[in-house]
Amino acid sequence: MRVLVADPSAEERALVASILQEDNHEVILAEDGAVAIQILRAGQPFDVLITAIEFPTMSGFELCWEARLIASQGNPLYVIVMSTSRDEAKLVEALDSGADDFINSPPRKSELLARLRAAGRLLSAHRDLIRLASFDSLTGLRNRRSFFEELDGCLFEEGPFSVIVLDVDHFKRINDTNGHEVGDDVLREIGRRAVEVDKGFARLGGEEFGLLVRGGLPAAAEKAEALRRAIASTPFETANGPLDVTASIGVAQKKASDGFDKALKEADIALYAAKSAGRNRVTLSRTMSEGDFMLFDMPHVA
Ligand code: GH3
Ligand code: MG
Ligand code: MG
Repeated sequence: MRVLVADPSAEERALVASILQEDNHEVILAEDGAVAIQILRAGQPFDVLITAIEFPTMSGFELCWEARLIASQGNPLYVIVMSTSRDEAKLVEALDSGADDFINSPPRKSELLARLRAAGRLLSAHRDLIRLASFDSLTGLRNRRSFFEELDGCLFEEGPFSVIVLDVDHFKRINDTNGHEVGDDVLREIGRRAVEVDKGFARLGGEEFGLLVRGGLPAAAEKAEALRRAIASTPFETANGPLDVTASIGVAQKKASDGFDKALKEADIALYAAKSAGRNRVTLSRTMSEGDFMLFDMPHVA
């Protein structure tokens, strides 16, 4: 594991580092809380932070808080506080500040390594949970929840942003004619073709897929058309032989001050228009004025 050890005592740092390195952990050392924060902010994420309770410039629990804030949602950080028995009251505060575990200082080798093994088990369970909560088990794409989290996450970023929604054409018929298993294979293959166009594609549910594009309508339209073509141009290999599959796609751009709700609604209306106009096409929703937009089809060779 990648471990950051923050302790004002050079002796203590060296002792902890030698125990961890002997057990093949990657160890980075910080002599102060502020330095530890800098290291946590820069570069590669850490698995574990082992921290003392007091530093010259800040307390260990401030560091615990900061470390929790810095560790991104997708990269859980396990925090172990090192304390002498004199620090009992502070130890409680450190645990309440977000530490996961504590160890007496100076730590005994066998105990420190056992606590790291426990950290490893918890981190791995935590990562499994994150994966299950964010990815779709059928296609391996990001799921609906992850897609909407991404939209929320960039709400206050500078635009432009666009959204793409895709719905497989006559999917019920594919299921009815070929069976649910083949339907599932088609969804998996759509997922593979989608990530080739853009890794950010998510499965929004059933046979619906979506993508947030950091760009205006032309950039999004290009991606949408690339995926429509990728689906329609090559038959899908299935247990029942090759199958022609098509999809309809709606695209809309987010207006600067609006949330994503309006853009998603417009993209849905555009998708519906694409279905009505004969399917296997990309329809764009272009805003004419506030609350007023026009739909038009991307030209394509079917
Ligand atoms: P349209 O061209 O208008 O979109 O028609 P459609 O048949 O694709 O639309 P509809 O929404 O009626 O059908 C969607 C079907 O997708 C119905 C549902 O049984 C099927 N479906 C939803 N999730 C899954 C899945 O995970 N696997 C499979 N095989 N089918 C699914
Ligand atoms: Mg549908
Ligand atoms: Mg459909």
